[in-house]
Amino acid sequence: MNVLVLNAGSSSLKGAVIDAQTGKRVVTLAAQRLGTPDATAQVGTRELRLGDTDMAGALDALLPMLVSASGRPVGVGHRVVHGGERFTAPTLIDDTVLEAIDALSSLAPLHNPANAAGVRAALSLLPDVPHVAVFDTAFHATLPRRARSYALPGDVVEAHGIRRYGFHGTSHAWCARQVADALKQDIRDLRIITCHLGNGASACAVEYGRSVETSMGMTPLEGLVMGTRSGDLDPGVLLLLMREAGLDADALDALLNRRSGLAGLSGTSNDMRDIEARAAQGDERCRLALHVFTHRLRKQIGAYAAAMGGVDAIAFTGGIGENSALVRHRTLQRLGFLGARLDEDANRDARVSADAPVARLDERNSRVALMAVACDEQREIARQTAALVAERDRVDNPMVIPIAVSARHIHLTREAVDVLFGSGHALTPYRPLSQPGQFACEEKLTIVGPKRRIEGVRVLGPERRACQVEVSRTDEFFLGLDAPVRDSGDVANSTGCTLIGPAGSLRLAEGVICARRHIHMTPEDAERFGVHDRDVVEVAVHSAGRDLTFGDVLIRVSPRYRLEMHLDTDEANAAEITGGHTGSLVGTSARAQLVRRGVGFDAAR
Ligand code: ADP
Repeated sequence: MNVLVLNAGSSSLKGAVIDAQTGKRVVTLAAQRLGTPDATAQVGTRELRLGDTDMAGALDALLPMLVSASGRPVGVGHRVVHGGERFTAPTLIDDTVLEAIDALSSLAPLHNPANAAGVRAALSLLPDVPHVAVFDTAFHATLPRRARSYALPGDVVEAHGIRRYGFHGTSHAWCARQVADALKQDIRDLRIITCHLGNGASACAVEYGRSVETSMGMTPLEGLVMGTRSGDLDPGVLLLLMREAGLDADALDALLNRRSGLAGLSGTSNDMRDIEARAAQGDERCRLALHVFTHRLRKQIGAYAAAMGGVDAIAFTGGIGENSALVRHRTLQRLGFLGARLDEDANRDARVSADAPVARLDERNSRVALMAVACDEQREIARQTAALVAERDRVDNPMVIPIAVSARHIHLTREAVDVLFGSGHALTPYRPLSQPGQFACEEKLTIVGPKRRIEGVRVLGPERRACQVEVSRTDEFFLGLDAPVRDSGDVANSTGCTLIGPAGSLRLAEGVICARRHIHMTPEDAERFGVHDRDVVEVAVHSAGRDLTFGDVLIRVSPRYRLEMHLDTDEANAAEITGGHTGSLVGTSARAQLVRRGVGFDAAR
């Protein structure tokens, strides 16, 4: 299964046709200085002068050569740096995906536009082959909230979408899997710390197969010391530089991204080879660079071992991680307390390559496996692309359903409004709800149950023919009620409660229900999804670390509705749904067919 892997940069292109099963490179390609008069390229061993050409021109010239050398690929895998919150897995590319990649450019201004340009050019040249975007951020979609969040005020976080994403995900994923394979253990049984040390550097805590911490954050600037990037820095330093040195955002950007890190510390080079050589000759600044680099990495490893409650393997990858015995040696000093013991001879002699990607570095009695791993992002992209192409029918389902979470609320009759708020009182709209004509009101009531009461429960408008109080299971236990799970409007023989308003109280004989989960949709949506009114379906919800499939979901079709699935707060909490989540109908075969089954739920009623 040959896959074409492409990594389009702003002025360069790297690629390869790879047999996804064996990892064998059938042919490689590279192009440099695109957008200048001196663009050049290599296809296999062939050198070419491209002249004045851009990304599209280069692909136009090179792809036919690749196809004639290796045949038509089954798919094209594109490296895309930033997938934002939306892309948490490899994704088949269509126009909307491409637009979304463009829209994420503000988060990765140097990379996403170039990646998207590469995708566009390749799509136009190979339109009949599936194209897949593999995102650097996707592996870290499983970061728990505590690891994703910065300690900033909520309004600032929300206004600017500030959160930690993490990068180098493809490399960390590949590296962790190589470790598990080398140990002949299931990755789901291992706690692995992967250290990607190239020009950019990041570490990742891979707990039982999932990324739970990583050192890069909202941008690739956070974390370890890198070739030219500072990594972690007291934010107060930025304030000081702004105030005392008058640096603006661009100047800080240049300082922190291009003049810091190993280059800044050493004053000479961003290349670890130069730094090691000069340090050996006694250059103090280069010695310091080496010390800071390895000290910070060691701290990170210790922190990740603490975050995971232990560590089974530590792996080094990337140009420095694979090649620098000195960096590995210095980093692993003092980690004996974790049970990590380096075999100095094995470390010195370690050589890794695409064909033999793993070298063991640990002593026999080391409790922690230590390894150097050849970084092979291209192969991981080929693997993920091939897997997606093979399962294309199952996952090619762009038909997602937005999810809304309903907090506890109350619907009232005209008469009930009179009793609770005073005769002739008109409900005051507070904000419109997603379903047309419905609105949340300013008015709030207290629900009184046999055990306890809940205050401040919002009334929803407009008025209805029967009162209805919708609560979650947790509310029900709290109030001491036994409410049935019902469709909205179906309150006959349900439980009662007392409502207290500013003008009076009202005893309801019935009306308290736990709303059955449901999807509102228009007849057009129903046609698109291949479902009918009152069908019962399953909906899979993808959320970071708490994926959940909900059964017993009722389809409700009306031209008045807008497509939306409604869950209550208990259900949303179980899946850690906060906002902006979507679900998909569970698919069993081509294009996500629904599971239309008679459920016990209907029979029980
Ligand atoms: P990128 O992050 O750009 O993909 P690489 O992973 O290729 O970069 O890493 C490049 C870095 O690896 C170089 O800057 C250099 O510092 C380091 N490196 C390569 N070989 C060695 C070596 N033998 N010893 C120490 N460092 C090395």
